[in-house]
Amino acid sequence: MFNKKIFLSVSLPAFLITFSLLSIVQLKGHLQMIIAERFFHNGGWIEIFVLSFYAGFLSYKMSEQKNTSKWRMYSWLLFTIVFYGQLTLGLLGFDKFLLTGNLHVPVPAIILAGPIYRFEFSIMPVLFLSTIILSGPSWCSHLCYFGGIDNAFSNSEKYPKQIPIKNKFIWKFSFLAIIIFFTILLRLLNIPTFYAAASGISVGIMGLLIIVFLSRKRKKMIHCTLFCPIGTLVMFLKFINPFRIKINSSCTTCLLCSKHCKYDALNKTDIESGKPGLTCTYCGDCITTCKFSSIEYHFLGLAPANSRLLYIVITVSLHAAFLGLGMI
Ligand code: SF4
Ligand code: SF4
Ligand code: SF4
Repeated sequence: MFNKKIFLSVSLPAFLITFSLLSIVQLKGHLQMIIAERFFHNGGWIEIFVLSFYAGFLSYKMSEQKNTSKWRMYSWLLFTIVFYGQLTLGLLGFDKFLLTGNLHVPVPAIILAGPIYRFEFSIMPVLFLSTIILSGPSWCSHLCYFGGIDNAFSNSEKYPKQIPIKNKFIWKFSFLAIIIFFTILLRLLNIPTFYAAASGISVGIMGLLIIVFLSRKRKKMIHCTLFCPIGTLVMFLKFINPFRIKINSSCTTCLLCSKHCKYDALNKTDIESGKPGLTCTYCGDCITTCKFSSIEYHFLGLAPANSRLLYIVITVSLHAAFLGLGMI
């Protein structure tokens, strides 16, 4: 049944935020960043309307707690398909799908390695950091072009299996250190861009193999939780933003939520400490599973239910806005 209150407090703000964000890009951007504008005059405005409606619709659907996980997966997968679809079309010679004509290697590690190697910032780190400031770790639960693949492959009706590793943080920090070390080495040795890009693509292929063989098998986002260096950065950078997830005193430590967390952030010690572990991305999947409503979003002085809706509005608006941009 149509819920007018949710429409006014969630869908309408998501529509307006998406419309405002994309309108600024349409009016001020100098590269025809709204992709439809590159194909016909004022196509950008039509696309902005469509995406703003989409943001309103998606935020409405995600606000229903029992559907959050399902719609998060659909929308994240759509984002991934659009992103890599644009890349494929660009590589096939339809260069209107490429933002500048300079390809960005579409592997998350390059968000970190690219600026180190080139010694300059590009659009991707700027987009990434903007999302951290606006909505904490939503990059790793709704917005990353690669994480959508890990999420889809680990999706299952069955419960995720435990990660068979004692200290996941040793793995995470080791991979982060390896990526930084080798990128500095490439830079110091003046390795040509072609070979540096080939290294980036190899990291992406390794990531895909991990997803296909490990995440799919264990029903857990092994790539994002253990290997991706950007996920490791997000673990800490997310605290720049005031959104938090906490577990309140009604928790009975039944551990049901633990079985639903694909990011391995709800082990017994995490639950007993009253908050998820560092790898939590605020995806919200666990909230549906808790029969005692013990898991809550918090944002400054807002009530938990409103904090959750605010998180959905901001995250969905960013997701819809990013869908409209020619990103590569
Ligand atoms: S951990 Fe890496 S691959 Fe996963 S969502 Fe975050 S940035 Fe993307
Ligand atoms: S499902 Fe709820 S009650 Fe059970 S451990 Fe998780 S937060 Fe606590
Ligand atoms: S603890 Fe909950 S919100 Fe955090 S990653 Fe796990 S399922 Fe998502």
